[in-house]
Amino acid sequence: MCVFTMRFEERFGGVAMNRPLVFLRDDDIGTDDGIFFELASFYSERHIPVVYGVIPDRLELRMISVLRKAKKIDPGLVDIVQHGFRHINYAAPKLAKYEFGARRTYAQQLQDIKSGLGIMRNIFSEDFTPAFIPPYHGYNQDTLKIIQELGFSIFSAGQLAALSGKAFLDLPARVSLNEFQPDGSSRVLNVQEMMATFRRVFVTGGVIGIVFHHHLIKTSADMRAMKDFFRSLVRWRDEEKIRFGLFSDFIRAQAKKSAVA
Ligand SMILES: [Zn+2]
Repeated sequence: MCVFTMRFEERFGGVAMNRPLVFLRDDDIGTDDGIFFELASFYSERHIPVVYGVIPDRLELRMISVLRKAKKIDPGLVDIVQHGFRHINYAAPKLAKYEFGARRTYAQQLQDIKSGLGIMRNIFSEDFTPAFIPPYHGYNQDTLKIIQELGFSIFSAGQLAALSGKAFLDLPARVSLNEFQPDGSSRVLNVQEMMATFRRVFVTGGVIGIVFHHHLIKTSADMRAMKDFFRSLVRWRDEEKIRFGLFSDFIRAQAKKSAVA
């Protein structure tokens, strides 16, 4: 094993890194809709694992049973994680959005993140994977301290978090399949743009996180682009250029490593 690979395995808690590991993250889960079901069966038929970022305060009853069922049927293909609490924007107008950031005190952030965690644990118990995704990828140092204090194993924003001595594993989603404009509008990239963004990160190796929002799919062209992109990833997996993984794979690998140590 080369030194480079060893360093990666060390950093990612013992998960083998002989080829880049790709995780898919679908955020803003809470409401039941047809697009979710269409994509969920698409993933399941192709054995594509997906991390679902659930908004605790927006979780509807039917979605709870759908997620529970999906996890029971194939636990290796589904992770259920926490995406904020209410997904409200507290930032000043025209500034980068956040639910957790400068205008929220430590106590306010702690209360919200803890309430969300309580909901997730109550509803999903052992089916919940202790990972936190900050809405809009916004957060500050207080948020990171709270994530550590509450014992989350994984934090996932858009880039690595600037914090020394992290007790959690930091797994950013550096590839986004959606583009957001300052005026609040958004769009789904076309498949060429998706592949170009993915390739730019692929050459850096390691863990490649891909984030998307299925509820932003508005047209049949959007859906086609998403599916074509996922089909390309499946081809890459079959050609052994990448492999897919979930957050829970990292947690399991870490637990195994600590048990051996
Ligand atoms: Zn979100």
